Amino acid sequence: MSENTQSPAAEAAESPATKVALVSGGSRGIGRATALRLAQDGFDIGFCYRSDDQAAKELDAEIAGLGVRSLAVKTDVSDSNSVRAFVAETEAALGPVDVAVTSAGITRDNPLLMMPDEDWNQVIDTNLNGVYHVCRAVIFEMMKRKSGSIVNISSVAGVYGNATQTNYAASKAGIIGFSRSLAKEVGRYGIRANVVAPGFIETDMTAGLNEKVKKQALQSIPLRRLGRAEEVADLVSFLVSERSSYITGAVFQIDGGIII
Ligand code: NAD
Repeated sequence: MSENTQSPAAEAAESPATKVALVSGGSRGIGRATALRLAQDGFDIGFCYRSDDQAAKELDAEIAGLGVRSLAVKTDVSDSNSVRAFVAETEAALGPVDVAVTSAGITRDNPLLMMPDEDWNQVIDTNLNGVYHVCRAVIFEMMKRKSGSIVNISSVAGVYGNATQTNYAASKAGIIGFSRSLAKEVGRYGIRANVVAPGFIETDMTAGLNEKVKKQALQSIPLRRLGRAEEVADLVSFLVSERSSYITGAVFQIDGGIII
């Protein structure tokens, strides 16, 4: 019987082959669940968050408790300099980035007739430009190393559209076009780029929905429940692993079968 009682994650942390995953919007919800899941998979984790230092500190400690290295960096993904600094700090502390997952996102819902320019711009700047900034900042190192996996978090709203979400749906549809184009561009470098499009997932983002909207949503979901962030993280884990080595440019809906 082996004397080695270390967890797989702890073993991976000591191995020079430990891979590095970068997660945007890691402090909460889907990003948080993804950071934890990839840490369990043995990745060192560099994650960014916008404002909640306490939540980031707790996650940082939780990841380190899994026996891998963790780095939390306060970053505004809508700002390219801020993202470049986040990626540079991650590379300096943990090594080159093997995997990037973009989960940072916001909603500012309004019918188009009432949409303030600021809400339109903030959503596009965070959700779509944020994905561009992260991918732009990691791609050169991945190309040099001829490997990498990127998973961008879109939404079913980006596939089907959703009333009062023209800004959000446009940003999320943009992520799909962006990722498919990127997959075509960098496939020959051994880099994969895929999209995960969740339906209604129980996180802070959906906690604010009123009861009427939640009830309507449940009626349109054949599985009759909201999804869990861990279920999305499980799909991301598959998509960044070798188990999905022939999948790129694909859009995966994870939505309980929602009919919009
Ligand atoms: P959440 O509100 O719980 O978490 C969002 C995260 O993004 C936080 O960590 C926040 O700090 C970060 N963030 C926001 N703006 C940022 C900025 N400018 N710079 C850096 N970080 C920023 O949201 P969630 O439900 O976990 O959503 C995660 C992703 O999944 C988003 O892109 C969202 O659009 C998408 N999504 C969520 C659902 C859902 O039902 N929850 C459904 C479809 C898609």
